[in-house]
Amino acid sequence: MITDHYNRNIDYIRISITDRCNLRCRYCMPEDISFVGHDKILRYEEITRIVQILAQRGITKVKITGGEPLVRHECTDLIREIKEIPGIEMVTLTTNGILLQSMLPKLLEAGVDAVNVSLDTFQRARYEHLTGKDACEMVLAGIQDAYKSGIPLKLNCVPIEGENTDELSEFFSWAKRKQIAVRFIEMMPIGYGKTYKSVPSDEILRQFFEAYPDAYRLEKSLGNGPAVYYSAPGFAGEIGVIGAIHEKFCNTCNRIRLTSEGFLKLCLYSGEGLDLRAMLRGGCSDEEIAEAVTNVIERK
Ligand code: SAM
Ligand code: SF4
Repeated sequence: MITDHYNRNIDYIRISITDRCNLRCRYCMPEDISFVGHDKILRYEEITRIVQILAQRGITKVKITGGEPLVRHECTDLIREIKEIPGIEMVTLTTNGILLQSMLPKLLEAGVDAVNVSLDTFQRARYEHLTGKDACEMVLAGIQDAYKSGIPLKLNCVPIEGENTDELSEFFSWAKRKQIAVRFIEMMPIGYGKTYKSVPSDEILRQFFEAYPDAYRLEKSLGNGPAVYYSAPGFAGEIGVIGAIHEKFCNTCNRIRLTSEGFLKLCLYSGEGLDLRAMLRGGCSDEEIAEAVTNVIERK
């Protein structure tokens, strides 16, 4: 087991497998972004080696993310390999959904345990405005197919003042009609997110309870993250809020992050961590890497 100095059990890693993306969400990436050279990005065998080392120390859950993870060539092979690592109990994916429909069969075959799809609007023109691509229908088709396949599904929406807050009731109604967790993530003031006005989780919940006065909070957790979930009579699914700014959930933080360049980050809001790529490519043994990881996590 890996514990930090607050005695939090670190059992979850988010792995960004690429910095590239097939969208340009306004709050995340500029149009003219330049990407890191391929030689600087961890190779699949480097990622699986890191996961093997971490699994021996108590990491059991892996989230594959990006950039957009599905744009990386043969990413389903990586997912399959990670799933086969002894000790890894769950491998989930966060995607913008553009390639979900076409890649779903391979994802299911690779054994992915759950999928989170990011979708901030159901409106075609607005989707294009927010992401730079006229692809809302494609994402909805991917969600539909994933839903039909029975894989656990979550929708992630970043509510943005003046952009998509008039669609909250539509998001609520998705959770009512479908067995899906619809989650609202507060805009984090990082990168381009700083230029947008976040909608506090309290405000989302106020509107939810206004629309569904008999709504109630669920005590159970529906995943590995900091979301707090609610439902209401007649609902097939749930509403979740992730108060990245207005709620403090650091005390229960169980996660570490690996960037696509192989830097192990201890916290989204801190630059502290460990350059695992340098260790891997510098010829360090598994034991040396494991010890360095354990030491750095202790400082989380
Ligand atoms: N490309 C994939 C996707 O969009 O799901 C995975 C990576 S993306 C960075 C993961 C999530 O981060 C998305 O749900 C996106 O909306 C969210 N995100 C990006 N920038 C954010 C910000 N400044 N504040 C809050 N969430 C943000
Ligand atoms: Fe790409 Fe996800 Fe960022 Fe949108 S939020 S630009 S889909 S990485």
